[in-house]
Amino acid sequence: MDETEAELVEVYSAADIAEAHFLQSMLENAGIKARVVGDTLSGMIPPGEETAPRVWVFQPDEEVAKELLAEYERVHRRPHPDDDVPAETWKCPTCGEAVEADFELCWNCQTPRKAF
Ligand SMILES: [Zn+2]
Repeated sequence: MDETEAELVEVYSAADIAEAHFLQSMLENAGIKARVVGDTLSGMIPPGEETAPRVWVFQPDEEVAKELLAEYERVHRRPHPDDDVPAETWKCPTCGEAVEADFELCWNCQTPRKAF
């Protein structure tokens, strides 16, 4: 258990895991310890929950990290998946839950996705 854990702050919500790790490397190259949170593929996360991988740094590095990330965004601007593009979902015929398009089974009741 790392006692400095409490000092971690989120500085970036990445578009995907590749971007998150790229940014982690970028920050570490700048001498900032960074870690990626949320890149686990285990566990079913209900649709609508925040699933984007996040980049966290230690609080003393927050300002510098944010400047680097802002610079990165200016250069690599691209649509963020959280912005105005709703996640594609299908509705479970059994329980009515909305299931992310990536899943072939309902996360709630395991009903297979039906072909439209
Ligand atoms: Zn279901």
